[in-house]
Amino acid sequence: MDISHIEHIGIAVKSIEEAKKYYEGVLGLKCYAIEKVVDQKVTTAFFKVGQTKIELLEPMEADSPVGKFIENKGEGIHHIAFCVNGVEKCLSDAELAGLRLIDKAPRKGAEGLSIAFLHPKSTFGVLTEFCEDKNK
Ligand code: ZN
Repeated sequence: MDISHIEHIGIAVKSIEEAKKYYEGVLGLKCYAIEKVVDQKVTTAFFKVGQTKIELLEPMEADSPVGKFIENKGEGIHHIAFCVNGVEKCLSDAELAGLRLIDKAPRKGAEGLSIAFLHPKSTFGVLTEFCEDKNK
């Protein structure tokens, strides 16, 4: 696989508005984008930390992937995303290695990135995302 860096860390929060008081008010990071990903029923807010981003994830409703995550585990780290070259190749390598894929093919995520997830059951408990900016 061709992984360059950690693209972002996804953090589930009940309220982006509340969480911003910490990320902006205390840490001094700047929220540079808020985006709704309707098919995931989630609102995302992005902060840059060097070349890595923090992606806050606020569920639009309780009955959604992030809503269920918060209900089961509470707020906290939801996933880690690697910036890769060739997300399709990463997926086929992962599949060959016997890992469980959530996405068999890349789909469109926030910021127009091409993304795909591996199941945490086969990645030592960490929901893992590959993402690639194909617009570059
Ligand atoms: Zn993500």
